[in-house]
Amino acid sequence: MTDPLMNLYNRAPIAVERGEGVWLIDTGGRRYLDCVAGIATDALGHGHPALVAALTEQAGKLWHVSNIFRIPGQEALAQRLVDASFADCVFFANTGTEAVECAIKTARRYHHVNGQPERIDIVGFAGSFHGRTYAAINASGNAGYMEGCGPRLPGFVQLSIDDAAAIEDAIARPTTAAVIVEPVQGEGGARALTGEWLLRLRELTREHGVLLIHDEVQSGMGRTGKLFAHQWFDGAEPDIMALAKALGSGFPVGACLATTEAAMGMTPGVHGTTFGGNPLAMAVGIAAFDTIARPETLAHARAASADFFERLEALRSRFPDVIADVRGKGLLIGLKMIQNNRDFMGIARDYGILVAGGGENCVRLLPSLLITAEEIAEAVTRLEAACTAARGAMVQAA
Ligand code: PMP
Repeated sequence: MTDPLMNLYNRAPIAVERGEGVWLIDTGGRRYLDCVAGIATDALGHGHPALVAALTEQAGKLWHVSNIFRIPGQEALAQRLVDASFADCVFFANTGTEAVECAIKTARRYHHVNGQPERIDIVGFAGSFHGRTYAAINASGNAGYMEGCGPRLPGFVQLSIDDAAAIEDAIARPTTAAVIVEPVQGEGGARALTGEWLLRLRELTREHGVLLIHDEVQSGMGRTGKLFAHQWFDGAEPDIMALAKALGSGFPVGACLATTEAAMGMTPGVHGTTFGGNPLAMAVGIAAFDTIARPETLAHARAASADFFERLEALRSRFPDVIADVRGKGLLIGLKMIQNNRDFMGIARDYGILVAGGGENCVRLLPSLLITAEEIAEAVTRLEAACTAARGAMVQAA
């Protein structure tokens, strides 16, 4: 029998049927502690009553209308995002990569309408991930995602985060439009950039009239314990920001936020979408925002993070031959593994805990922001069992 699905994912051998909070239940009734959460998407766990109520109520009223009409839910969610951030306006898309696409167009259009159409270069960084559209794969510059997909697009520059001189040089160039960066690299392996680094980038971009884009698709909406990751550092705010994932907490929605100034080239006809910002997405997005942005939720996420990090550091000290490093920010946690991270993901699954992969041989833990202390303890118990099994497997292989 041939597989009717395009062969694009290395799928784990479990068929997921339902979710309850941090738990996923497969078709055989087995329960897994879910530290993948749709890769940082199900920020309020599975089946959160406020989200279920918002979706079902909206489903009975109106699913979809074109963006040629006013959609009150869009205005309400945009207002919340603007009130809570540096931004003045919002474009709603469906995914993270579309939010990034809009961010890049916004930056280039800004210079175009400002009489500097030669400013097209988008500077990105090694280890980043911005999604799978052509602009996004070119912005992150990861060869693995571009191979065989035709020539590299002009107007994209890749640098190492550690190469301060090259960064200064690139930002000073008269063809540079914008710099795009994830304040915490997610797919790259939960790599948190320092405040000092982010503030320096802000200073340089401002000095040279270059726009700063933060890709907070993964790190935004409470994931690091602040509503947006850059809010850990006063003065680090960008001109443009891409969001998705937790914005709909499981319902597909992305957003590109910008200041009025940065968005000056985004005029009728320049950009658009059929589905982006539809009433279903907005109803869930508002409910998710109103839960995530509560100070108690963010404080809970910070406390859960501190607890998780402490327990994971203790685990690492018991298993230095399995875990090399514990890193990340908030509940975007990376365990840098000694053996192959993919092998460890399989072992962890056997012990009833789901973890995601990541760059630099990391596994990522990205649980619901509402994870309880008992659930964190249970997660670490299961990881400990997986570490014991992984150690045994390594001894056998040696
Ligand atoms: N940017 C970042 C930082 C991401 O982590 C991702 C998804 N992992 C994307 C963009 C792309 O999002 P999507 O898969 O929704 O297009």
